Amino acid sequence: MNGVILVTGGAGYIGSHACKALRLAGYTPVTYDNMVYGHDWAVKWGPLETADILDAAALDRVFARYKPEAVLHFAAFAYVGESVADPQKYYHNNVTGTLSLLAAMRRHACSRIVFSSTCATYGTPDVLPLTEDHPQRPINPYGHSKLMIEQILRDFDAAYGVKHAALRYFNAAGADPDGDIGEDHDPETHLIPLVIHAAQGRRSRVEIFGTDYDTKDGTCVRDYIHVTDLAAAHIDALRCLENGGGSVVCNLGTGNGFTVREVIGMVERVSGKKVPAFEGPRRPGDPHALYANAAKAVARLGWKPRYDNLEAIVETAWRWHESRKG
Ligand code: UDP
Repeated sequence: MNGVILVTGGAGYIGSHACKALRLAGYTPVTYDNMVYGHDWAVKWGPLETADILDAAALDRVFARYKPEAVLHFAAFAYVGESVADPQKYYHNNVTGTLSLLAAMRRHACSRIVFSSTCATYGTPDVLPLTEDHPQRPINPYGHSKLMIEQILRDFDAAYGVKHAALRYFNAAGADPDGDIGEDHDPETHLIPLVIHAAQGRRSRVEIFGTDYDTKDGTCVRDYIHVTDLAAAHIDALRCLENGGGSVVCNLGTGNGFTVREVIGMVERVSGKKVPAFEGPRRPGDPHALYANAAKAVARLGWKPRYDNLEAIVETAWRWHESRKG
């Protein structure tokens, strides 16, 4: 097989969109997923190997069978609240799991990895927009686990020559524009799918977490980035590493912030439905605003986002959720 890429977490939301992008770019994505949160229906563009990144024997078997030239590493637990309640689960799966994966890569002479990092590694921002050199002070175990992995990757580059791209995602949202795949978390905690569910009548209403922030309408500002644009950045990062570009860390966002009320308004506009919403208290740990300076991804990776507007994000997400009804 030519151009084989191992995709851990390839049956998940962002991982499955990356598999489609890999296939369209001429690679063969091999999904490696324990299927705790992954979906069979999301694996459409290459084989599925059902196993855990903590399972060294399974990793050896898969590396020996497919001989991947690089790894896209999405597999992780990503519920912030759960990480506060059960940090052991997060450090074990995310940090120890990544060490297990990196050890397997070294055993099989695979020396390129693209890693799903997060803007949660920054914590509460001192200045906006966030650039990559902003201090990293996570405020929950999930963010800490991702920051630890960034450090591990730097050390593995210095000591063993394993090259990485660490991509710090802002708020992934939207769905495949062709309708092949989309977001389906259980439990769902993210704003856009929750607002869409409320518009569809699948939930009675959506709660706005805080209306007294220092923002234009009092609600939190986030940088929503289309999942297809995120996926495309992974292909750009892979090519950058293939071309000997060296390890790189980049934000992936649009640079545009939208408030919670603006998101609700956009869902109402796209769907033509009224969204029942009510104002609740702040959610602990939510910074008032987070948005990226994404100039580095454009300059270093040659990344060109195609769906960088809230309407396209909400429109593709709405179509996906409508197609999943019933
Ligand atoms: N949010 C909200 N109600 C919800 C879920 C989220 O008001 O039911 C807000 C949340 O406070 C944040 C934004 O929507 O400001 C995006 O939250 P999400 O959980 O989607 O992503 P996060 O920014 O936490 O990674």
